[in-house]
Amino acid sequence: MTGSLFIITAASGTGKTSLVKQLLATTNDLTVSVSHTTRSPRPGELDGQHYHFTDIDTFIQAVGEGKFLEHAEVFGNYYGTSEQSVRAQLESGIDVILEIDWQGALQVKKLFADAIMIFILPPSVATLRQRLSTRATDSTDVIEQRLAGSVHEMSQYVHADYVVINDNFEVALTELKAIIIADRQTLARQQRRYQSTITTLLNPSTND
Ligand code: 5GP
Repeated sequence: MTGSLFIITAASGTGKTSLVKQLLATTNDLTVSVSHTTRSPRPGELDGQHYHFTDIDTFIQAVGEGKFLEHAEVFGNYYGTSEQSVRAQLESGIDVILEIDWQGALQVKKLFADAIMIFILPPSVATLRQRLSTRATDSTDVIEQRLAGSVHEMSQYVHADYVVINDNFEVALTELKAIIIADRQTLARQQRRYQSTITTLLNPSTND
């Protein structure tokens, strides 16, 4: 495999989806895995683009057949990542982002020791509360419930390799990009990518 696997995890209301969208638009050879979910599409969401929307029976069957790299229940719905499509993209040299919850992130970390887990945190409770309330027309009670749920999710940040604080969008985007670019220059990665060039460089006489 030549591509790297990045897991991006965050509590809802941290601006993760917008950051990933912009990251993809401005970085070459990078894609995001399209998850399977049993939740209903939201207005504007397209099947195959935002998610593969599926019914519960089909999802459970796919779990039984071992088709998912990871799967988890989040807010009462099931979500899973297709193993076959992620492996195919990695093998073709593309870096793959999994935008998944912390339960799935920990499953993937067990399977792929080299996977890089990035956790995005909001800068303050006030910002998180504000982002949660502008997101939907929910009542204050629902927002407070979400906030409480977020605390448990955010406490999982200790499992990450990198932590990005999304205070200023552009700064957070630059930091995410820096993680990806730095990974592309690591010894292991460069050895995989430039194997024949390095062999030639180290044996110049045989190539005169
Ligand atoms: P939403 O329904 O709002 O799009 O996503 C709800 C949560 O499920 C988010 O935290 C999102 O990252 C997570 N999620 C989306 N796809 C997957 C997946 O394939 N696996 C897991 N474990 N979580 C996912």
